[in-house]
Amino acid sequence: MHINGGCHCGNISYQADVDSNNVVICHCTDCQIISGAPYRTTLYTSENDFTLNSGTLKTYIKTAESGNLREQNFCPECGSQIYATSVGDTNRSFGIRVGTINQRDQLIPKTQYFCDSAQSWVQDLSSMKKIGKE
Ligand SMILES: [Zn+2]
Ligand SMILES: [Zn+2]
Repeated sequence: MHINGGCHCGNISYQADVDSNNVVICHCTDCQIISGAPYRTTLYTSENDFTLNSGTLKTYIKTAESGNLREQNFCPECGSQIYATSVGDTNRSFGIRVGTINQRDQLIPKTQYFCDSAQSWVQDLSSMKKIGKE
């Protein structure tokens, strides 16, 4: 599937060829803090299938609890998170942040990771009062 997307301010734009089955949710505490949201939704693809069309990303390198280093790439103007990847390897896997993809309505997560750090209410959104058109 061909996708495209970008940041909120329009500085960053990209395109990629992806497998729409590779969408996951991560409930880890790093994802909660970095995104400011209860979890992050990510589409994994190969570095070779991703093209940055405009802008220059800013990179923050985080150290995971495991000691692994992860590059977090985001727009330096508006802060939108674009993708994360490993540090230094060749032929890397890019984890694109699904919220920045124009076709996000077609990208349904298949797996949830780090469920032991998930917020207790996220599995039951359907029971909440709803405002706005569904
Ligand atoms: Zn931006
Ligand atoms: Zn995570």
